[in-house]
Amino acid sequence: TTHPQDPACIFCKIVAGQIPSKKVYEDDELYAFHDINPWAPVHFLIVPKAHIASMAHVGPEHEALLGRIMALAPKLALERGCEPYPDGGFRIVVNTGAQGGQEVHHLHMHVMGGPRPWLKG
Ligand code: 5GP
Ligand code: ZN
Repeated sequence: TTHPQDPACIFCKIVAGQIPSKKVYEDDELYAFHDINPWAPVHFLIVPKAHIASMAHVGPEHEALLGRIMALAPKLALERGCEPYPDGGFRIVVNTGAQGGQEVHHLHMHVMGGPRPWLKG
């Protein structure tokens, strides 16, 4: 299957295998891989294989795809070492635009979790 790609986009290159990554999950539409600079014991990214620049570029045609990403996150989180709800859990972040902290302009969901003893709970 081929997907619309931006040749200048680092995550399109990761999806295409042109830049190596540590794969967490793959199907026809989605790719997930470990963040190269993790902020938590478990930190991976879920991206659509098709290039969508950001959440600001999402339209009705993307609703099913976004639903799939959201539904996949808790499953992969448990598989990758996040502990179960409610004492474990995870955080989902989708940075959007410069003021939203987005650095890579290919839509991606951060999934972060795992034991963090410095957080009081
Ligand atoms: P943003 O700030 O755009 O939401 O986050 C981009 C994320 O992508 C950052 O957490 C950064 O560590 C990660 N990242 C950037 N380049 C690469 C890369 O080449 N490989 C991987 N695995 N992660 C990357
Ligand atoms: Zn891209």
